[in-house]
Amino acid sequence: MQTVQASVGAYRYDIILENGLTGRLGDRLSERFRPSRALLVTDENVWRLYGPRVMRSLEAAMIPAESLVLRAGGYPATLDALRELAGRMNDLRLGREDALIVMGGGSLCDTGGYAAWNYRDVVRLVQVPTTLIGMADWAAGGKTALEYKPGSRMIGSFFPPTLTLVDPQTTATMPEREFMSGMGEVIKCGCAADAALFHLLETLSGRAAIEARMEEIAWRCLAIKGPLEGPARQKVMLGHSMAHAIETAQRDRGLLHGEAVGLGMLAVTRHGERLGLATRGPAERLPDCLRRYHLPLAAAVEPQTMQARLHALGSSLDIAVPERVGWTRVHHVDNAFVMDAWFGGL
Ligand SMILES: [Zn+2]
Repeated sequence: MQTVQASVGAYRYDIILENGLTGRLGDRLSERFRPSRALLVTDENVWRLYGPRVMRSLEAAMIPAESLVLRAGGYPATLDALRELAGRMNDLRLGREDALIVMGGGSLCDTGGYAAWNYRDVVRLVQVPTTLIGMADWAAGGKTALEYKPGSRMIGSFFPPTLTLVDPQTTATMPEREFMSGMGEVIKCGCAADAALFHLLETLSGRAAIEARMEEIAWRCLAIKGPLEGPARQKVMLGHSMAHAIETAQRDRGLLHGEAVGLGMLAVTRHGERLGLATRGPAERLPDCLRRYHLPLAAAVEPQTMQARLHALGSSLDIAVPERVGWTRVHHVDNAFVMDAWFGGL
């Protein structure tokens, strides 16, 4: 078991990582606080895999619990899902002694956080991310959002959970491509802030070997981002400004987030080296590492669409560039940097 302290503003909360935690969730919860009741919110797919196990663990810990199982797919990100969840919270009259446990992928946890943030009474939010990208990235930070249409990121806020519980073994049931996309985010953590993690990733081979080290991998990623606040977080958002521009501008619209992060990180690293901002290490080692996890090294992107996306962000931006593996510096650059990084040669 590993614990990471994360912060949202002045508020601190713990992220607990433990293999097999979904079967002991009730115990882990009662060790921290004893809710009078719990509402477990998840989607059909996650429920099928882990729902009954979590409910049994709550029962064993003598925490009366109800469940709400949302339709799988894009539904948890919709206003209808928010209405369904808020309705249930209201019907149950959840209060400050109760726990709202949201278990699943990013959009479900975002909507659950959004509901907790807007709920009139105080309710203790417990996040249980089940995807690798959740464990490596957004589980630290307290982001809540309502993605009312694909790609929208502006409706939401930051609301700290009371506790975040991570069972690294839940990544074992992820489809191959989503899993490897999550590894894109993990490689970013290593390249930006943890040279030892990056080195480990350069030596692992095959999914079983990765799974065997997953608790350590997820812990190292969360330990990087958890304590960081505001602008300091920019240092570890390597490749993300590029990734958002690529995600908007890709012609085939088929890239997953971690794949776009891998491409963005590669472009920024190579361009940084061309400009003399970095030593030769990262740009040489990144392509092999990305290839090892079957991540793309190229994608078709419309220059006009990327330019328009950058234009919408303003004339300049802060961008993290690796000086060496495990260490970045944030540079304030104009938009041409991103265009040159991408079109100057990947
Ligand atoms: Zn990301």
